Amino acid sequence: MAQSLSKLTRDDIVARLADLLSAGQIVTDEEQLKLASVDRFKKYQSVHGIFDGPLPAAIVNARSTEDVSKVLAFADEHRINVVARTGRTGTEGGLETAVEDTVVLDGSGLDGILSVDAENMQATVQCGVPLQVLEDRLRERGLTTGHSPQSKPLAQYGGLVSTRSIGQFSTLYGAIEDMVVGLEAVFPDGSVTRIKNVPRRAAGPDIRHIVIGNEGALCYITEVTVRIFKYQPENNEFHGFLVDDMTTGIKVIREVVTNGFKPSVVRVYSPEDARQHFAHFYKDKVVVVFVAEGPKGLVRATSEEIERVAGQYPHEKVDPALIENWFDHLNWGVDKIEAEKQVMLAKAELGYTTEVSVDWSRTVELYENVIRRIRAEFPAADDLVMLGAHSSHSYQTGTNLYFVYDYKINCEPREEIEKYHIPLNAIIVEEALKAGGSMVHHHGIGKYRAPWTTREHGSAYAILAKLKETFDPNGIMNKGTIFPMDTHA
Ligand SMILES: Cc1cc2nc3c(=O)[nH]c(=O)nc-3n(C[C@H](O)[C@H](O)[C@H](O)COP(=O)(O)OP(=O)(O)OC[C@H]3O[C@@H](n4cnc5c(N)ncnc54)[C@H](O)[C@@H]3O)c2cc1C
Repeated sequence: MAQSLSKLTRDDIVARLADLLSAGQIVTDEEQLKLASVDRFKKYQSVHGIFDGPLPAAIVNARSTEDVSKVLAFADEHRINVVARTGRTGTEGGLETAVEDTVVLDGSGLDGILSVDAENMQATVQCGVPLQVLEDRLRERGLTTGHSPQSKPLAQYGGLVSTRSIGQFSTLYGAIEDMVVGLEAVFPDGSVTRIKNVPRRAAGPDIRHIVIGNEGALCYITEVTVRIFKYQPENNEFHGFLVDDMTTGIKVIREVVTNGFKPSVVRVYSPEDARQHFAHFYKDKVVVVFVAEGPKGLVRATSEEIERVAGQYPHEKVDPALIENWFDHLNWGVDKIEAEKQVMLAKAELGYTTEVSVDWSRTVELYENVIRRIRAEFPAADDLVMLGAHSSHSYQTGTNLYFVYDYKINCEPREEIEKYHIPLNAIIVEEALKAGGSMVHHHGIGKYRAPWTTREHGSAYAILAKLKETFDPNGIMNKGTIFPMDTHA
C-alpha cells in the first residue's frame, strides 16, 4: 500500500485542519472517507462495499478561495497529498486517493453564479456550480452554455474545466477549452492566480491551458468565466441515416465537417453500439446522426448540406422525431447512476468506455484494429456482451472514437478491474497511439491511463514534467494522476 507523503500523523492532520477552518468543514466519517477514496473506475468493487485502497485522512469542504489557499499551503508545507473534487463524476481514477492520509478538498460548496453578462456574452461561476444549474439560469434568459456532456446534471465547473470535458454540441460550440474566457486558480503554495477575461490576446503563450486539463495535479480551480450563447431551440433540425458500414458513416461526417459546416451534433454509431441506443430502428446498420442548431438561415443551409452529402451514398432516412426523442433522454442524473448500480448487482454485468482521437485517414483502421484485437487477444472475450464504438466529436483534421464494452463478470468483485477493464482499456490505448492518435479524447488521464502519459506526449513530455516540477515541486497535488506514481516527487 502506498505510504503517506507526510510525516504528520493522521490525527495531527485532522486537528491542524480544524484549527485552520471551522470544525464543521472537516469530515472524518469512515463511510464518507471510503466513498471519497474512489471514483467510477472502481464502481463494481465499490457497489459491493469493497474499498481496499488508502483511505483519506479527511474531506475538507471549502467555502471560499481563501479556504482553498489555506488548505493547500498547509498541505504543501507538510507534504500531504491533496485530491480536488467537485461533482464526483470523474471516470478515470482521478478522484482515487492513491496514498495514505490524503486530504480530499471538496469545492462543491463554492456554488455561486457570480455574474451573467449578456452584453459581453460571458458568465462567471465558482467551481462548485453544477453545469445544469448555470444552464437552467441561462435558459430563463434565452441563453445557453452550449456545453452538454452526458454528466451535465451532476458535473461541476471545477471538474469540467480540469478534465477538458466536452459536450454533445461540440462541433458548433467547441469543448470546454474553447469556452473558458478566464479563471481563478490556487497553486500548492497557496498563491491565488487570476487569468483575466479578454476576447483574445497575443500576450505570450495562452496560460489558461496550464490550468485547463490539469486534473488537480497542478492547481485548484476556484472560479471560471465561460462564453455563453443565444439559445434558439425552435430552429433545431434533426437528421438520422442508416448506412451500410463505418467507412460510409465516417465519410459522410468528414465531408460535412470539412466542407465548413458546423452542425452542433455529428455522430456515427457502429451497429453493435447502435443496438443499445436505437434498437427499434437501427436494422443492424451503422447510424449517422446530425443536429443543426443556431440562426434559422444557417440551420437550413447546414441541413441542406447534410442531406446532399448523405444522398451520395446508399442510405435509409430515420424519422427526425426519433432522433430528437433520443437526445431528450441521453443525459445521466443520480437516478440513472443508481439504476446502473442495481443492474450491476442483479446481473453481474458492467459497461465501460475508452475514448480516443485520431486523424480522418486512420479512423476506420483504428476502429477495425481494436475490434479485431479484442476479439482475438482478450482472454475473457467470451464474457463480452457488447463491443462497439461511436464517433461523437469531429474536427477539421479528424474525429474521436468512443469504444463501448459491456461484459459479464465471472470473477470476484475486486478482480473485475484487472480481469476486464485494464486489458480492454490497454488494447484501445495502444492501438490509438500506434495509429498516431491520442489515447484520451475527453475523460482525462486520471490514474488509469497515466502509465502511457510519456508515450502520449513523446518529446513534449518534458514540457509537462517541467510544469509539474515548477507548480507542484513537492508533489502534493493528486499523486498518480496524469503523472505515473513513481515520477515527480
Ligand atoms: C454518466 C457519465 C457521463 C459522462 N459524460 C461525459 C461527457 O459527455 N463528456 C465528458 O467530457 N465527460 C463525461 N463524463 C466524465 C465527467 O463527467 C467529466 O470528466 C466531468 O468534467 C467531471 O466533472 P466533476 O465536477 O464531476 O469532477 P470530479 O469527478 O469531482 O473530478 C474529476 C477530476 O477533476 C479534478 N478536479 C475536480 N474539481 C477540481 C478543481 N476545482 N480544481 C482542480 N481539479 C479539480 C479531480 O481531482 C479529478 O481528477 C461522464 C461521466 C459520467 C459518470
